[in-house]
Amino acid sequence: DAPKPETAALLELRQAHFASPQKNYYERPPQIERGWKEHLFDIEGRAYLDMVNNVTILGHGHPRMAEAIGQQWLMLNTNSRFHYAAVAEFSESLASLAPDGLDAVFLVNSGSEANDLALRLAWAHSGKRNMLCLLEGYHGWSVASDAVSTSIADNPQALTTRPDWVHAVVSPNTYRGQFRGPESTADYLGSVMPVLEAIDAKGEGLAGFIAESVYGNAGGIPLPEGYLTEVYRQVRERGGLCIADEVQVGYGRLGHYFWGFEQQGVVPDIITIAKGMGNGHPLGAVITTKEIAASLEKEGYFFSSAGGSPVSCVAGMTVLDVLAEERLQDNAREVGDHLKARLAALIDSYPMVGAVHGMGLYLGLEFVRDRVTLEPATGETTSICDRLLELGVIMQPTGDHLNVLKIKPPLCLSEQSADFFVDMLEKVLREGW
Ligand code: PMP
Repeated sequence: DAPKPETAALLELRQAHFASPQKNYYERPPQIERGWKEHLFDIEGRAYLDMVNNVTILGHGHPRMAEAIGQQWLMLNTNSRFHYAAVAEFSESLASLAPDGLDAVFLVNSGSEANDLALRLAWAHSGKRNMLCLLEGYHGWSVASDAVSTSIADNPQALTTRPDWVHAVVSPNTYRGQFRGPESTADYLGSVMPVLEAIDAKGEGLAGFIAESVYGNAGGIPLPEGYLTEVYRQVRERGGLCIADEVQVGYGRLGHYFWGFEQQGVVPDIITIAKGMGNGHPLGAVITTKEIAASLEKEGYFFSSAGGSPVSCVAGMTVLDVLAEERLQDNAREVGDHLKARLAALIDSYPMVGAVHGMGLYLGLEFVRDRVTLEPATGETTSICDRLLELGVIMQPTGDHLNVLKIKPPLCLSEQSADFFVDMLEKVLREGW
């Protein structure tokens, strides 16, 4: 159907004034007006199942968030140079969630800011500049976080425009990468060594390494077993710091783990978080050791006008309370296991379904034209997403080839909603596109 005249007019207004490099999800998007749990509703009252929103982990429209933030706004909102309860309590809560020794917290407003600050900490602590990162990674839009982002789906020029302090290593993608299968750890580690040795040979030293602990941007692919253990060891041997970007994968989304790095059995020097920690309220944090935090003092004081404000801290604490009270990490594990099993069953019936990656409510369904060559089914994936919208499901492609469904719904997803998603997906696969 043609969009309503007011929806079309608003879209024109958006195109006229919302700067052009900011992408729209759909060519003809529904005009969303309301959200409730894992559901969105457009101005005509049509419901959509939101399977991509990795920010609203508690679900849309959570009354506890509205109430807590509203109350705090009425009472007080100021900045962290003042002394108030929420900043002390929230910092303590975050430190207690992190592994022992990581007990110094910086509060900022986004994942980009958190990663920028983490990079500055690595630079300040090591006195070096060179950073190691993974190809196909995304860490943010700010100057430094963008520099270590190499995802060509987000920036087609990424590989030719990184500054010279950025050293990206081969994408450790055990499904379609240079080396394949669970036994490929040694080969991938072998591809990291020449990069480190080239940095060693220049005599400039290494500031650190940044990576998502589960390979999010590539479609939720777990890193090869033991990969981070050895890369962290090599980086630390050179005096560098290891940064775990937990912006997408941390905070319980994996169901089986609260932090992504637990899956690899490592402890980073710096953890960055954002997205879900505010359930949509702009919130980010860096958690590190007191010693690493103190190394920034040589650059003066750190201050963020809204980072750590009373409203932001109350938003963050409410997320943690609801996460625990509603057992959302458990739900991510239980519903996520069920969803993964149902998706995996599609592999037998539909040749284009190449693999299901990930765990908990962080899954990636990869479409291929050929199971041997793994030729990515890029156009088909877009068509499937467009058809799913018509059937009432919000779903988007990810990965460098845009051939992976990025499945990362609110953590309150019910089993019924998970089933609806798979039923609609199967309907699309059956009818063709
Ligand atoms: N790191 C990762 C892994 C991300 O996925 C994102 C956002 N997509 C960021 C960092 C940047 O976060 P933000 O958009 O809050 O700046």
